[in-house]
Amino acid sequence: MECLFCKIVDGEIPSKKVYEDDLIFAFCDINPMAPVHILIIPKVHTASSMDEITPENSKYVARIFEKIPVIAKDAGLTGGYRVIANCGPDADQTVQHLHFHLLGGKKLSVQLG
Ligand code: 5GP
Ligand code: ZN
Repeated sequence: MECLFCKIVDGEIPSKKVYEDDLIFAFCDINPMAPVHILIIPKVHTASSMDEITPENSKYVARIFEKIPVIAKDAGLTGGYRVIANCGPDADQTVQHLHFHLLGGKKLSVQLG
């Protein structure tokens, strides 16, 4: 499958991995929008976006949200953090493999596009 994030999970495209378990993979965003910008994804291509979350694949989402505090702590985000998911063209989603952005390391603005 021609999916950038599947290739990152497979190691075909290199990434800076920060967390991995049996279900999920987390790595640094190539174009960070904050001092810490981590992408957290299911290891399998189970959904292109949040629109495709189902009872069958929601275990990946549950695991991602169980591990976000662990990943944030390991990244040193003691002052808090923000989690974002872009869904569809109006949100400027550019990679069609379900993913969540973990941002922090500074006081984040509340500006929306
Ligand atoms: P989206 O805009 O779909 O919510 O987020 C996709 C994210 O993937 C963007 O923040 C972008 O910087 C990141 N990204 C795109 N290509 C690569 C890549 O090859 N490696 C890494 N680590 N991140 C990427
Ligand atoms: Zn994929």
